Amino acid sequence: MSEAAVLSVRNASKSFGSRRALDSVSMNVGKGEMIALIGPSGSGKSTLLRSISGLQTIDGGAGKIEAFGGVVQSDGKISGKVREARIRIGFIFQQFNLVGRLTLFSNVALGSLGRIPFLRGVLGLWPAETKQAVMAALARVGVAEYAGQRANTLSGGQQQRGAIARALVQKAKIILADEPVASLDPVSARRVMEILRELNQQDGLTVVVTLHQVDYAMRYCDRVVALKAGKIVYDGPAAGLERKQLIDIYGPEFEDVF
Ligand code: ADP
Ligand code: MG
Repeated sequence: MSEAAVLSVRNASKSFGSRRALDSVSMNVGKGEMIALIGPSGSGKSTLLRSISGLQTIDGGAGKIEAFGGVVQSDGKISGKVREARIRIGFIFQQFNLVGRLTLFSNVALGSLGRIPFLRGVLGLWPAETKQAVMAALARVGVAEYAGQRANTLSGGQQQRGAIARALVQKAKIILADEPVASLDPVSARRVMEILRELNQQDGLTVVVTLHQVDYAMRYCDRVVALKAGKIVYDGPAAGLERKQLIDIYGPEFEDVF
């Protein structure tokens, strides 16, 4: 793993029965990069993100995934040290994954668990510095005014911003976001992409984001990695991705949507 790389994926393959979701995928992610992971439905994007965060094993053999120089998994086994790596990885989901009945504040404060005793968190006895950190994170993503509101009363965009705030409170250095804007209206989607980009450019967070919208990939990300049937078919500057490559990746119907 090179010194500047915060993530390294080496020869990662993953089969589900006879289906190859990942086919010998290798990539490095440098500190401070913002990378879009694109490709058609079923091309392996989610499987790759889940494998990087140690939520899922890859096949045994030569495959190896490292984060911050520590092994997340190798030879099909999650490393005993995965917790150390994972605490620095914030995972953002399409469906936000907030606890609907809890306030936005509590949801975000839960990101700091692991740093403070579990029971205090459950009882809502958050230390003053946690309260401060939560409010700062909510303000950073523009939803501080909703802190006391139950998550299930917020719009999708507000919930997704809360999920990003939770990653900030966790002090994540990398954000892995799996289709974070796929369930949002265009205005909320752009706002969430802008926030991710700001955190990347101003705070130096490393971001890997899977996207359906290729135009978002081009607009907000420096580098694009494209998967097709579990293989990387493009890895380079977003600006260098040509129309004919996109048609090759997505098929001829891509003409209609781009
Ligand atoms: P993407 O996120 O690009 O849409 P996925 O990584 O979700 O693709 O899926 C890649 C392939 O692996 C698909 O063919 C999908 O059906 C299959 N797959 C993913 N997860 C599972 C699973 N838990 N069990 C069986 N097949 C799966
Ligand atoms: Mg997916």
